[in-house]
Amino acid sequence: MKLPRYAYFEGRIVPYSEARVGVMTHALNYGTGAFAGLRGYWNSDEEQLFLFRPIDHFIRMLDSARILCAEVDFTPEMMRDIAVQLLQEEGLREDCYLRPLIYKADEIIGVRLHDLHDELTMFAVPFARYVERDEDAHATFSSWRRVDDNAIPARGKITGAYVNSALIKTDAVRAGFDEALVLTDQGHVSEGSAENIFMLRGGVLITPPVTENILEGITRRTIIALARQELGLDVIERPIDRTEVYLCTELIMTGTAAQVTAVTHVDHRPIGEGQMGPVAAELRKLYDRVVRGRMPKYRSWTVPIYVKEPAPAV
Ligand code: PMP
Repeated sequence: MKLPRYAYFEGRIVPYSEARVGVMTHALNYGTGAFAGLRGYWNSDEEQLFLFRPIDHFIRMLDSARILCAEVDFTPEMMRDIAVQLLQEEGLREDCYLRPLIYKADEIIGVRLHDLHDELTMFAVPFARYVERDEDAHATFSSWRRVDDNAIPARGKITGAYVNSALIKTDAVRAGFDEALVLTDQGHVSEGSAENIFMLRGGVLITPPVTENILEGITRRTIIALARQELGLDVIERPIDRTEVYLCTELIMTGTAAQVTAVTHVDHRPIGEGQMGPVAAELRKLYDRVVRGRMPKYRSWTVPIYVKEPAPAV
């Protein structure tokens, strides 16, 4: 992966090579960081880069930081402004991924959350597809369980918790699958390794509620709104059993990285006809238009990065 040219680090934008932490750093040793992942989308007609729902991502990130007792003076708006400035400096004219991170920066030994100081960093890299076969993904139920809210809250996007996601993803990929679904300790379907899930059953779009150890996805929220408002679908949040997934007619995974991924097989069983269904296809098209600022109704979700000269008066 190409390295970024710049990073936001200790209060300013510096060349990426200067954004360095010591090996004793608390977050590196104990996983005590809270992060976010945003996408920037290039719109070639407008020659503009749009950052998708930054305020929502930064609100969630500050919530995750609060779970870690982090004390930072940033507001979501301040973080959005840093992101815009950083992306302007980086000068990307293609789809990209922005990674902000709040981390416990002290170089000390000692497992705790309190009496530590927190730093914010941010960088951006070009980024295309995350799930290679995103129109025909094959998934499996992981033998791992999703971290529980009373162990490591999945609601928080906490660096240490991503060992759970990494275990899930690696076992699935090594077994020949594209992605995995993971169950809660109670045996309900929670989410994917880094995606929320939706199934279409009886014509209704169903997704697990936020109390099923999921990350409260921004893409999930976006898809709920688009499915209701643009496709007129009923969308409900309720617990999902494993065998319901085998019997559903369509299954999609949503996430900033995975976008809208159509899952066509689970544990070698075809979902519906075993190919991408019409709802997934429609949502994929809609989502792509929305994130590139091509639907005026949803333009307020997108933040333009580059300042445009006003058209000359004639
Ligand atoms: N669940 C997990 C575990 C994730 O890491 C992600 C990616 N951030 C998601 C769901 C999807 O969240 P979002 O749509 O906000 O990217």
